[in-house]
Amino acid sequence: SVYKSEGHESPIHASTFDVDALRNDFPILSTKVHGKPLIWLDNAATTQKPKPVIDRLSYFYEHENSNIHRGAHTLAATATDAYEAARNKIKHFINASSYEEIIFVRGATEGINLVAASYGRHNLNKDDEILVSCLEHHANIVPWQMLCAETGAVLRIIPVDDTGQIDMQSYKKLLSPKVKIVAASYVSNSLGTITPIKDIVAMAHQYGAKVLVDAAQAVPHFKVDVNDLDCDFLVFSGHKLFGPTGIGILYGKKDTLNEMSPYQGGGNMIDNVTFEKTTYQLTPQRFEAGTGDIAGAVGLGAAVDYLQHIGMDHIAKYEHSLLSYTSDALRNIPGLSVIGTASEKAGVISFTLNGIATESIGQMLDKEGIAVRTGHHCSLPILRRFGVESTARISLAFYNTYREIDVLIDTLWKLITKTY
Ligand code: PLP
Repeated sequence: SVYKSEGHESPIHASTFDVDALRNDFPILSTKVHGKPLIWLDNAATTQKPKPVIDRLSYFYEHENSNIHRGAHTLAATATDAYEAARNKIKHFINASSYEEIIFVRGATEGINLVAASYGRHNLNKDDEILVSCLEHHANIVPWQMLCAETGAVLRIIPVDDTGQIDMQSYKKLLSPKVKIVAASYVSNSLGTITPIKDIVAMAHQYGAKVLVDAAQAVPHFKVDVNDLDCDFLVFSGHKLFGPTGIGILYGKKDTLNEMSPYQGGGNMIDNVTFEKTTYQLTPQRFEAGTGDIAGAVGLGAAVDYLQHIGMDHIAKYEHSLLSYTSDALRNIPGLSVIGTASEKAGVISFTLNGIATESIGQMLDKEGIAVRTGHHCSLPILRRFGVESTARISLAFYNTYREIDVLIDTLWKLITKTY
């Protein structure tokens, strides 16, 4: 089932969103697992890498490798240019106002920890409150709990309704001048819910609270625009965006970042060092102490170029159809319950099957070459909200096909016929 959208002009693949052609860019997609073609439906855990990203990493190490910012020689300048060019690519990708708002970190987790430590420790006191939604990944819960333990601030939870959508009435009631930080995801990694994040930001701002958006599961699926969202911070991981592991992005508003204390001290981030007094650079260097993942940043820049050649709107449109196709097919399977039925979803479907442990579903699918994740997806509170400790999770990327979904559905049918 080759999907072709009309009128798209991609420099990579002529004038169509041709999923089979795009798949050829991903070497791992021709791998066999247990003798069966790999069907990678674990994209929320990590995504596969296209050749342009793999090649860019090799090119960097073969031709450009140097530390950045320091050496006064040709390769140092080349590596610095490549690193800063990547920063600019990310800036355009999320529509930030300036390159200074883009900080390279290890991933979404480090971005959130940075904000909790650098902003939180200096701005929160014991009478303050932090709001997080019930949908959050542990990465967007635990750093705030640690911050509460240090400052005496109180963590409050924004509930979700029975569809897995954030309950905006309850959110409104929780907001008050005591709330200093609201941290919420744009897309839930375990249910796929797309939250009304723009409204969440606007409502928090009425009380002067800062908002951190966890966009780890949003950026791979549709265009994310920080200027439009008006969020104070936004984080995502490169490896979930078809880029390398070990690199990710913290976006922050420039003035806020410059008022924050550094996260770590070391090389690169200083303005001047004496034993009496050290002064710091402004953002982004302020938050990039030590030697980071230079090649990873350059690779992430290549991933963003690749996605922009395809067009995030084309990706969103294709995935939307694939997600509905998958949901409709799953609905016909007896005993299968989808957890999370919000009307706006992206990329993810979580389910349980009556009488079959989720781990067994995962193992049986693996025998057919199908990779899904089973377990709690690092978001136990939202699973428990729906009375389960574990689900099987299908997570899509633009390189998945209708054909692959048909194989998945056939395998699930076989599984239940064997079991009952
Ligand atoms: N937030 C969300 C919504 C996620 O899905 C993930 C990863 O699963 C993270 C944060 C943490 O990302 P990382 O482990 O790449 O730092």
